[in-house]
Amino acid sequence: MAGAWQRSGSRLRTRRIGLMGGSFNPAHRGHRHVTLEAIRALALDEMWWLVSPGNPLKPRAGMAPFAARLASARAMARRAPIRVTDLEARWRTRYTIDTVREVVRRYPRHRFVWIMGADNLAQFHEWDQWRAIARTIPIAVLTRPGYDDDALAAPAMGWLRRYRRPARQATNWAEWSVPALVLLRFRPDRTSATQLRAVDPDWHVRFANPFALPSTPAAPVRQPQE
Ligand code: ATP
Repeated sequence: MAGAWQRSGSRLRTRRIGLMGGSFNPAHRGHRHVTLEAIRALALDEMWWLVSPGNPLKPRAGMAPFAARLASARAMARRAPIRVTDLEARWRTRYTIDTVREVVRRYPRHRFVWIMGADNLAQFHEWDQWRAIARTIPIAVLTRPGYDDDALAAPAMGWLRRYRRPARQATNWAEWSVPALVLLRFRPDRTSATQLRAVDPDWHVRFANPFALPSTPAAPVRQPQE
């Protein structure tokens, strides 16, 4: 995708890009669903999934190899305006603030918005320099079953709430001064990677060598029935 994107010359025009960080351990249909909803609600050209080499706030135990997580994200992003990236591994950025600053510095023509589920807002105050993240790019928080109330009561909301923008103006995010926060609600999806690992702990074995059989896509991670 990166090649086509650069060849088409679109690097020269301003693009509206969402950044969604995560472990993608594994990527699942919830990621895809909320991404497509966010693209629509924010009128994005594309979403970049930043597959984290190691989230400082998540336990290492049970974390599948980076290559398998990246491959599962690529499979889940197929035929959608989603760019799966290994930028954090390549740039060796450990914290979101460093990644966000690097993205903004390297792609000055584009406009970026940080995207995260409501569960992340609930613990946002634990992120390194979280206020600096909010001062760098706008933030859109996506509805997630079981977390929306916690998110509204989140410690970070004590500071962020004064910067909240109405969801009906969400498509204007590129003109907002920062900090800016918008909470987006749409048909929720209950899928979580924790739940998928519980039913299929060895999911990553299918993605162990994603380059071995280029014409045979890896089987998708089993998704529970709704
Ligand atoms: P885990 O269960 O291992 O914590 P996860 O399912 O939350 O994983 P992550 O890779 O940590 O997946 O999530 C990446 C981003 O996607 C986060 O911002 C998270 O809040 C968001 N997200 C994941 N699943 C959903 C969902 N079902 N609804 C809304 N947001 C989601």
